[in-house]
Amino acid sequence: MTTLTSVESSLRTRPVPVGPDLVIGGQAVVLMAGPCAVESYEQTRAAAEAVCRAGGKILRGGAFKPRSSPHSFQGLGRAGLEILRAVADEFGLRVITEALAVEHVPLVAEYADIIQVGSRNMQHFPLLWAVGETQTPVLLKRGLMSTVQEWLLAAEHIAHRGNHNIILCERGIRTFETATRNTLDTNAIALARQLSPYPVIGDPSHATGRADLVLPAARAAIAAGADGLLVEIHPNPAAALSDADQSLPLGAYPEFVRQVGKIAAAMGRTVE
Ligand code: PEP
Ligand code: MN
Repeated sequence: MTTLTSVESSLRTRPVPVGPDLVIGGQAVVLMAGPCAVESYEQTRAAAEAVCRAGGKILRGGAFKPRSSPHSFQGLGRAGLEILRAVADEFGLRVITEALAVEHVPLVAEYADIIQVGSRNMQHFPLLWAVGETQTPVLLKRGLMSTVQEWLLAAEHIAHRGNHNIILCERGIRTFETATRNTLDTNAIALARQLSPYPVIGDPSHATGRADLVLPAARAAIAAGADGLLVEIHPNPAAALSDADQSLPLGAYPEFVRQVGKIAAAMGRTVE
């Protein structure tokens, strides 16, 4: 792998268009926010309204959930995709949602503007090939135990099939530390931006697992050069069916956006 200087690499960043008027990997830091999982129409609509009011453009929400336990909520499937699309359209938002399996790809591509490949699936090569055969932007999360090189090679699997609309996402890795859910690897954000032509975003929610650490981790990600953030927000975090501890209440989101805006400004960037 060739190492580039940050100046060379920033010239090389390949912005990913998401619809006609939005790019990831351009001048603006792009925020994607919403619940971990789509639980109901009301819950998702409330989150979408908060995203829209805060000036956001992209709504997140899982319809197919990769849960450690088979006894946990697994997502609403197709019904979840329908809810996401309906509320996103009501507020003029784009949608990012996960395809958990190869057979989900055509269905998810019908509803989503960005297909998420989750951390546990980073080296699920048939899934990478399947999303690589679409032209839909793909957000590739780093595996929780994967090296930067393995992550970038996984992105190459997608590109090799013809889809270069790739966004990399650092979502925290597993380390010896157990005080937080994962460890945000800011080194990897900076390094992936140097080594790869693809935009890199940070996920401070999964990286920390704690709502009170989401803002500091988000600030660090932007300071390390992230082109965007993926953040979990929920109308009633205590009642969330997944990732309750790391979800920001909707009321906290406008201030979160203001605060990350200050770091973006210090980096010469705006927030979208
Ligand atoms: C998610 O975004 O809700 C998710 C399951 O993420 P990850 O794959 O990073 O665990
Ligand atoms: Mn989650």
